[in-house]
Amino acid sequence: MDTLQILTYLVWLVASVTFILALKFLASPRTARVGNQLGAAGMALVVAWTFFTTDGMLANWWIVVVGALVGSVVGVLGARRVPMTAMPQMVAIFNGAGGGAAAVVAVAEFLRDAGAEGHADLLPLPFIIATLLGAIIGSVSLTGSIVAFGKLQGFIAPRPVKYPGSQAVTAVLALALLAIGIYVAVVVNSIPLFLLFVILSLALGVQLVMPIGGADMPVVISLLNSYTGIAVAATGFVLNNYALLIAGTLVGASGAILTQLMCRAMNRSLFNVLFAGFGTGGDAVAAGAEGEEQLREINADDAAVLMAYGKRVIIVPGYGMAVAQAQGPVRELMDLLLAKGVDVQFAIHPVAGRMPGHMNVLLAEANVPYDRLKEMDEINDDFADTDVALVIGANDVINPLAREEGSPISGMPILNVDQAQNVIVLKRGRGTGFAGIPNPLFSNEKTTMLFGDAKPSVEALVSGVKQA
Ligand code: NDP
Repeated sequence: MDTLQILTYLVWLVASVTFILALKFLASPRTARVGNQLGAAGMALVVAWTFFTTDGMLANWWIVVVGALVGSVVGVLGARRVPMTAMPQMVAIFNGAGGGAAAVVAVAEFLRDAGAEGHADLLPLPFIIATLLGAIIGSVSLTGSIVAFGKLQGFIAPRPVKYPGSQAVTAVLALALLAIGIYVAVVVNSIPLFLLFVILSLALGVQLVMPIGGADMPVVISLLNSYTGIAVAATGFVLNNYALLIAGTLVGASGAILTQLMCRAMNRSLFNVLFAGFGTGGDAVAAGAEGEEQLREINADDAAVLMAYGKRVIIVPGYGMAVAQAQGPVRELMDLLLAKGVDVQFAIHPVAGRMPGHMNVLLAEANVPYDRLKEMDEINDDFADTDVALVIGANDVINPLAREEGSPISGMPILNVDQAQNVIVLKRGRGTGFAGIPNPLFSNEKTTMLFGDAKPSVEALVSGVKQA
């Protein structure tokens, strides 16, 4: 082994350690920034090393530089401009780009090696298997992520889209891919068949994600993320680059763990998420917004008094708090109530908002101390002993229909808001949540509604508490 090779292994080792440490740091909002920077630094090191030490790279430097510049501009603009509420779409599209890159590398490697002059024998089986895996998983991740992006952005119907026989089409696609893959691997390294394999893989990504929708989208995005990791790991194998292999494996494994955690948070099996089609059974209910039943209203001053003279208030933030950007006033409200001797805690549902950790990030941004944020399992038993549950723009995550058989969100664990003595709900009107179904909690006799955009509503509560 020459010196350059030894140094390359060392660089890969250092980078891999930064990736693992990054994951550790990302586990807490307190250290997440450092983790992010550490992982990025490790990746930058490998990219720079590869650039300066790989044959032919310097000769074609401008391709790499132009690519890096275009990518950096798109990345920086995207990250700066995208609002917090559109973060899942951004994750989906960045993720798709990763999968697409892995697929492109697989295609380029296959075309080069299978098309090499004088190439007659079959390429080594492990190489072909890794190339086929990189191509199929990367392609599925690319088109699947584009569909997920379209659904979350509202370009495509967010509900499950199915047509008669769609599952049969998926099965035929999968079988065709298996057959072509085996033929290309062990019979003949045919370039046209390999390209057909890639095209069918792209179609499979669309087929797999279109029938999924509603509250299952976060699981799908996390699963696609995991796919991208696996595709990148396969690419690392093809390119003989251990740093890529390790980075891909870490992404694949952490995406798979997150997927499993989210399935558990919604009490659904992954098979059920992928093939059962969330919400399809409840379209009749899903079609309309809240019914016309009488909802009791409360004004901000009365709501403020109820909280200020209570012993315990649990705040339940949801997607509406993110839309209204109400986290700053929410923090102020918490401070005022604490100063009056009220115990204030936040109940965080694992899928509140539109991405994992959405509420944690927003509340951390407003400097709400982490120890006030309680996970669902930690706080669910405390609602019964709570004077006021203040719901700020949350809906699905507190919907008691989840406890009923046959409802579209049946079995999804929810926050036990309805067990509190009083429930005050801040929302603009009778709009439904992401799942598109009515919420009987709003017409519960304990519940009162404070209608309006969450930010001015919380500001009115703040001035009410000041006067109470
Ligand atoms: P929901 O989407 O269920 O409900 C949000 C509520 O906020 C709506 O009922 C809406 O009612 C209200 N709202 C919207 N804008 C405002 C505003 N400016 N001011 C006040 N209220 C507002 O939110 P939840 O957080 O309860 O649930 C999240 C849902 O999203 C779940 O179904 C989850 O599965 C899904 N999801 C979660 C992801 C994640 O990873 N966390 C990713 C993708 C989906 P109105 O219009 O009347 O104001």
